[in-house]
This record gives sequence, structure tokens and C-alpha cells, in this order.
Amino acid sequence: MNPNEQKLTYPWGDALPEFGATMSVADGVRWVRMPLPFALDHINLWLLRDELDGRQGWTVIDCGVARDEVKALWEQIFENSLDGLPVLRVIATHMHPDHLGLAHWICERFEAPLWITMTEYMTGRLWSRPPQDANAAGGISGQSAVEHFARHGLTDPEILGQIRSRRQYYPSLVPDVPAWFHRIMEGDQIDIGGRDWRVIVGYGHSPEHASLYSETLQVLISGDMVLPRISTNVSVFDFEPEANPLPLYLKSLKRYDGLPEDTLVLPSHGRPFKGLHERVAQQHAHHAERLEEVMTTCRVASSAVDIVPVMFKRTLDAHQMTFAIGEALAHLHALYYQGKLTRSVGQDGIVRFTVV
Ligand SMILES: [Zn+2]
Repeated sequence: MNPNEQKLTYPWGDALPEFGATMSVADGVRWVRMPLPFALDHINLWLLRDELDGRQGWTVIDCGVARDEVKALWEQIFENSLDGLPVLRVIATHMHPDHLGLAHWICERFEAPLWITMTEYMTGRLWSRPPQDANAAGGISGQSAVEHFARHGLTDPEILGQIRSRRQYYPSLVPDVPAWFHRIMEGDQIDIGGRDWRVIVGYGHSPEHASLYSETLQVLISGDMVLPRISTNVSVFDFEPEANPLPLYLKSLKRYDGLPEDTLVLPSHGRPFKGLHERVAQQHAHHAERLEEVMTTCRVASSAVDIVPVMFKRTLDAHQMTFAIGEALAHLHALYYQGKLTRSVGQDGIVRFTVV
């Protein structure tokens, strides 16, 4: 456990639900874990006991990626962990593949609606159907991504080749998205099993991320906006190359300020914890430190790739490298839009940033 993590408390210690089983974490709230095919090897999903239009059942929060092993684990849960009741509704916090991947499959199986914010729905549906044109934008994959990362200093032909060949990355994990959806928005109160869950929208990590807070239970389903061990990824990618997501993310965190100190946080990765305000403060400190480091490095003109080893001290695979460059660029853009850095394009076509 790192020193920051030690300042949080974990009500269940090291206890985890087995894959294919559930663990109760609050009245009517069950924790499900599913494997992921990344370095980040699991995602947490949540089952909320529900009653909708007179029917008893469950609301599923987030779904896991579309892989046969994840479907098989869901089958075990449908069979053994839903008290013989159906899924009535699926709520997706956002469109990233580990959250939205199997939504279409669960919704279709139970004829259940997908509840999600408009921007997450639109982006997920678009990305799950990439254009035939290999040069078209398609998220963190394909030719437009190669050009984006090359423009920001990535020259390793092997990594560029891997990025190019991953054009089908998103649809391979999210092969479909339901053809219709129920829109949720900031401030909505969703009645789930007789309890109100308030939608708290956040930006910077994904287009319009929804967290859910129940005042009665003092439980926050934080999605990827607040995680106990790793910091939330905040990146600039090729489909929005001029984005400035870091201030959006930090501003969004302020929306949790009014929640009680004792709030139980149910994050998408890691363990349920208490210490929300401490963790939010750690995020502000973490990014303030990274911005300082970036300012120091940019005394000499630096590209996003030049910043990566300053921000990330460990060895990165191609997948992690794309997120690391995206995150480095998010910090450079934050300072650039504040007027603290200027940018210029070199003879080699690489964008570099320098302290004003
Ligand atoms: Zn995410």
C-alpha cells in the first residue's frame, strides 16, 4: 500500500468477491468483480436491488468487456446471485469498454433499457461502429491516432505499428451498443428500489461521466472519477486533439465536496473505501505536482513524449504508452491554455511546449 492509500480506510480489508460471485456492501447493493484483459486486471460492477414498474429485480451498474469469459461469469451471477429475479435496467457510468462492453448483451437478454448520459451514449455508439476508411478517426487506434502520437513526439516504429493495427480495439471490446437509450443528466434523482440516487456528472476522464450518490445509504458509486489507488486517466486523444480536460476533471471533483465525510465510495477499480475528501485532495495535489514538473521540464522545449518519463517512472507497454502520452499532453494543454507555455511545431513536425 502506498502512503496515500494508507490514509483511506477499507471497511472490508482485503476481502473481495470471487469472479462469478457477489459480496454485499450496503443494503440492497452487491459488489461484482470481472476480469479485464489489461494491466489493470479487474473492474468492479454493482447490483442494486430494484423495483421498476411493479416488477422486482435488479439494476446493473456497468457491465465488463465483451469477452466469452466475462459472459460466462455473468451467467453464473444471473443463475446464483440475483435471488431468481431478472435484470430490470442497466446503468452505464460511461462509454469506456470495461463499463459499456456487455451492455447490449445484458439489455437484449432481459429486454432491459440502458440508462446513460447522452454524450457517453453517442460516443460509444459511434466508436463501436468505426468507419470502413482506415484513415478515419476511431479513438485510440488507427491511422489518425498514429498521426496524433507522432505529432506529439512518438517515433518508435514498433509502438506506432501496434497503435495502427489496433483500429478495431474499441469494437472488439464493445461490439454493439443498444439501439436506443434512456437519457440521464446532472442532478437527476433516479429511484432505484425505493431509494433516490443522484446523478453527479463529471468531465475530463470521459465525455459525460455519471456517478451516483444515495443520501439514504451515504454511498457514492464513483465510476472512474475517484479511484483509491491509481489516479483517474485524464488524456488528450486524436478525436479531440485541442482538448483541455485537466481543469474539467479537477473542477468536476468539486461536485463531491458537499458529500458526507463518512461516504462509502464504490470505485470501478480497487476496493470500496472511506476517505472521499482525502482522496479528492490527493488528486488535486497529484496534478499540481505533475504541473510543476512539466513547467520545470519545459524550460527546454519539450514534446508530450519528452514529458512521459518525467511523469511515469515505470516501463510502459504500447497500451499504457498511449494513455501516458495522452495524460502528458493533458498537463501541457492545461498550462498552455493558462498562458504559461507556448507551443511550436518543429522542422520534424513535432509539437513542443516552452515556458513563456
Ligand atoms: Zn473510464
